[in-house]
Amino acid sequence: MIRVVVAGAYGRMGREVLKAVYKTEDMILVGAVDVRGEGQDVGPLWGGPEMGITLEGDLEKVLAEARPDVMVDFTTPDAVAGNIKTALKSGVRPVVGTTGMSSGELEEIRNLAESLKLGCVIAPNFAIGAVLMMRFAAEAARYLPHVEIIELHHDQKLDAPSGTAIKTAELVAAARGDFQQGLPTEIEKIPGVRGGSYEGGIRIHSVRLPGLVAHQEVIFGGLGQTLSIRHDSISRESFMPGVLLAVRRVMHLEGVVYGLENLLFE
Ligand code: NAD
Repeated sequence: MIRVVVAGAYGRMGREVLKAVYKTEDMILVGAVDVRGEGQDVGPLWGGPEMGITLEGDLEKVLAEARPDVMVDFTTPDAVAGNIKTALKSGVRPVVGTTGMSSGELEEIRNLAESLKLGCVIAPNFAIGAVLMMRFAAEAARYLPHVEIIELHHDQKLDAPSGTAIKTAELVAAARGDFQQGLPTEIEKIPGVRGGSYEGGIRIHSVRLPGLVAHQEVIFGGLGQTLSIRHDSISRESFMPGVLLAVRRVMHLEGVVYGLENLLFE
């Protein structure tokens, strides 16, 4: 049995993780942390039976008392790095889906996990379809180097662009090599209308609307043709097989693995 604590358990993703862990035979929920909903039993949060685990606000205390193997974190960009460091220092392996961490924070966490010889998985997207979309986009960029990325999410998402969009842009830039796209003389009549500009002029556009979950389209333009590669997470269940895979695999890792693709396609 893998003992799991969920950080951000009151949130949309946290609730989905509670449900997934409950339904998984080789895992047991031993604690749940959130700054909201303290004192509530977590079962009803995902429409399940009472589980005898209540939401608590102090991560360090929960980790000390519940002695989990793994902490799954779906919190906020300002909380995540602190939570990961608390978990590692408590001897607990983090599996992290929260996006928006800075490269400095990531570097610090890499060093800490390595020095403590503890596994840690950080993935901006746990949906296998999204990982495949990024892989196919990198392949296409070798032949069609003009690319724009449109990512679409629900309107409660804090960070923009999405971690997946940034990761896609990184992969595309690496695959196509030294390349600059776009018209240097173009004029934006409304500031920002052409989206954010990543390395080599790759434009990233972020759409935020109620009704959306997590979606991304990568559009390639070539001579007389376009190619669109699109992924849609229709429900948050789409992320759970990836999260459960990471929980199992992190038990046998040392140091940080960044990106689900590194667990899927080694
Ligand atoms: P949400 O706002 O519904 O949930 C976040 C929860 O974290 C809230 O309940 C909030 O109270 C809690 N929280 C804030 N600070 C905390 C702290 N210090 N300790 C404990 N809990 C704290 O957000 P969401 O839609 O569930 O998304 C959470 C994160 O997951 C976001 O960064 C989002 O971009 C990311 N996400 C990642 C994936 C992926 O596959 N990697 C998929 C979907 C969402």
